[in-house]
Amino acid sequence: MVELSVIIPIYNEELNIPNLVTRLRPVVEKIGMSYELVFVNDGSRDNSIHLIKALAQADERVRYIDFSRNFGHQIAVTAGIDLCKGNIIAIIDADLQDPPELIEEMIGLIKQGNEVVYAKRRSRKDKSFIKKTAYKTFYRLLARISNVDVPLDTGDFRVMTRKVAEVLKNMPEQHKFLRGQIAWLGFKQTFVEYDRDMRAAGEPGYTYKKLFQLAFDGITGFSNVPLRLATIMGFVVSGISMLLILYALLSYFIFNNDLPKGWASLMIAISFIGGVQLICLGIIGEYISKLQTDIRKRPLYIINETNC
Ligand code: UDP
Ligand code: MG
Repeated sequence: MVELSVIIPIYNEELNIPNLVTRLRPVVEKIGMSYELVFVNDGSRDNSIHLIKALAQADERVRYIDFSRNFGHQIAVTAGIDLCKGNIIAIIDADLQDPPELIEEMIGLIKQGNEVVYAKRRSRKDKSFIKKTAYKTFYRLLARISNVDVPLDTGDFRVMTRKVAEVLKNMPEQHKFLRGQIAWLGFKQTFVEYDRDMRAAGEPGYTYKKLFQLAFDGITGFSNVPLRLATIMGFVVSGISMLLILYALLSYFIFNNDLPKGWASLMIAISFIGGVQLICLGIIGEYISKLQTDIRKRPLYIINETNC
């Protein structure tokens, strides 16, 4: 039985893997538990998988899960949770933005009876002003409209117990938003604070597209407020249109106004209602598309090769 599993999702991280291992090893050695390092290669296009396999050959405590293609960070972490064997499980990014040294303190808090210890960003150097603001706004919006308390300014850098991992494994949703799911679980959770570093080397694997996807999954997975908003908007607009209709009827039958003059207001009304309808349809579509992917029940990921 392994006491500690460290899950590391990898997407084009050949420049970071050697440094990560050099920094991570002393940390886990110092903790003194038996351990495994679980690298999940998420369809990297560089040399990452060869580096990982070389590490595995030299040390049987290095495990790898090699995906058939890129499935995304959340799914990579999920696969790690599914296949790892440790009693305590740590998740950490490969680009050294999450300081490995923090894991020791986090494990200390697990030993004090917490089931989840997540790392909360006190500050971050890594993002541009726009990205930082977008992140902050997203987390605060989510906190307002969702029915779980997803902790502010935390990513997936965290340590959890086997108990939590087993419950997570039974949550089959296709659109993973792990930090939301874990918050939803309850249990005794606590956090440590840290300053997030710059990415050590290489390019971020999270493109804007992937970030927006994650934000959408977070919101649609944990809140029905957008749907409610669509309904409310529908009622408000219908109310306004009723008044407009009344006004139109009165003008025509009673006041006998010269009708073509109303062209401008007609145009405004039609485009306004059209716009609101499209927004509402779009919101509903988001939720339906989510339902559909869950119904298809495709496997979350496909493994090319593993030694787990
Ligand atoms: N990652 C992954 N699959 C992806 C994108 C990223 O496994 O499709 C990994 C990446 O190698 C890193 C972690 O997820 O270990 C965080 O990614 P990144 O540094 O790009 O995210 P950011 O720090 O910008 O949020
Ligand atoms: Mg990063």
